[in-house]
Amino acid sequence: MKIKQVGTRNFIFTYYDSEDWDLNLQLIIGEKYNYIIDPGIGAHTLNPMINFASVRNQNPFIIINTHYHWDHIWANCLVKEATIISHRSCIEAITRDWERSIQKNKVYLKDPVEMRLPSLVFEERLEFFEDRIILFHTPGHTYDSISVYDQAEQVLNVGDNIGDTPELIIPELECNVDIYRDSVLKYKALNPKMIISGHNQPMKSEVLDRILGELATNSSS
Ligand SMILES: [Zn+2]
Repeated sequence: MKIKQVGTRNFIFTYYDSEDWDLNLQLIIGEKYNYIIDPGIGAHTLNPMINFASVRNQNPFIIINTHYHWDHIWANCLVKEATIISHRSCIEAITRDWERSIQKNKVYLKDPVEMRLPSLVFEERLEFFEDRIILFHTPGHTYDSISVYDQAEQVLNVGDNIGDTPELIIPELECNVDIYRDSVLKYKALNPKMIISGHNQPMKSEVLDRILGELATNSSS
């Protein structure tokens, strides 16, 4: 696990499974809560963040599921006594995809996991005022995709709404392109200093213009 500090209270934990697959998880050390943006696939991805935060303060954890895909949510079941937050539609999507995701990806399974669903869901937006953290619905990669914005440090986590490599910045989309574009425009309005995504490197907000440009080119060709 590689840990990269990207602000006073923002840390990216990157798990490398092989040369072509890595997973970025994020920890925000808040005043009231500590926020884990995607617990990952097991104790080996979740516990380094729990341990890292626990030596800094004793705040309760808020676990966020950016969307229902297996690599972001398997470790939900290993979370003790924490609230797990997602979009409303994530519950149904996890339930529907669970068996398939285990069968297809069991080579990545290190600890036994069972399905654990989010315990707090929202539709459009959820805000933690004390910590200046906003969660908001940003469909595109999946219908249930949400993003997390740290207003204090202008760090934005878009889940998998950016593609997996520096060249491939548009992700696989379950939603149509117009819906995805609206989510990218929501990002632009925030003017983030740094953008974190599930499988790419941290980026500046210029990537949003590149995405919008590529969407425009694709739709006119
Ligand atoms: Zn995904």
